[in-house]
Amino acid sequence: MDSHQNLPDDFIKLCQSVTAKRPKAVINHILQYGFITTEELKERYGYNHPPRAARDVREHGIPLETFRVTGSDGRKIAAYKFGNVAKTRFSRLSGRTGLSKQIKNELINKYGCKCFIYLEEVDERELQIDHRVPFEVDGEPELEADNFMLLCGSANRAKSWSCEHCENWRSIKDKSICLSCYWAYPENYTHIAMRQVRRIDLIWQGENVEIYERLKQQAASLNKEIPEFIKEIIEREIRRNIDD
Ligand SMILES: [Zn+2]
Ligand SMILES: [Zn+2]
Repeated sequence: MDSHQNLPDDFIKLCQSVTAKRPKAVINHILQYGFITTEELKERYGYNHPPRAARDVREHGIPLETFRVTGSDGRKIAAYKFGNVAKTRFSRLSGRTGLSKQIKNELINKYGCKCFIYLEEVDERELQIDHRVPFEVDGEPELEADNFMLLCGSANRAKSWSCEHCENWRSIKDKSICLSCYWAYPENYTHIAMRQVRRIDLIWQGENVEIYERLKQQAASLNKEIPEFIKEIIEREIRRNIDD
């Protein structure tokens, strides 16, 4: 299979721009043969952890799809090929750094210089721009500000972990599921990584740290964990409002 012919020039250029040895080997192999199996990754290139090899490639903005082939021992094994490489996507991606800077500025102007998950104000340098819907689910979106979100490093790692353990990220790949997920739209969601849960991340800072310390003391004196204690206080307040 010679898939090389059908690939957009911009995509080929992007492939050629990768210099790191291991992802480059994987990319070149797929350019030449159309796909690479986990067996080839191990035996020819010494990649003992195929998902990491795939991640190394994807980190360069190159989409990979997983599919199944029969390995040399007759068992089904995974293989990788390039994902959807529509032409428009890569011509726009070429100027990516400038564009992401522009999108970051737009988001800051619109929502303030804060993390979308923890909602705390942080230094601009600490904010990372991330896809609302993970790249692995829906590829590269239109480069419009509202397809992206600003996350602090900690929220970004939490999102990555949760998304990578989500069935939608791993196999279903339905964009609409992400559109109602906390990690894409924390301001309005109906599930978190397909689990029926809701969450609030609370941070006390400055003068408010004292309130937290008092909360902690009271919880300890009642022999309760802090989250449990906080939920009780909130429940009491909500019930009181209903009774009024
Ligand atoms: Zn992302
Ligand atoms: Zn998600």
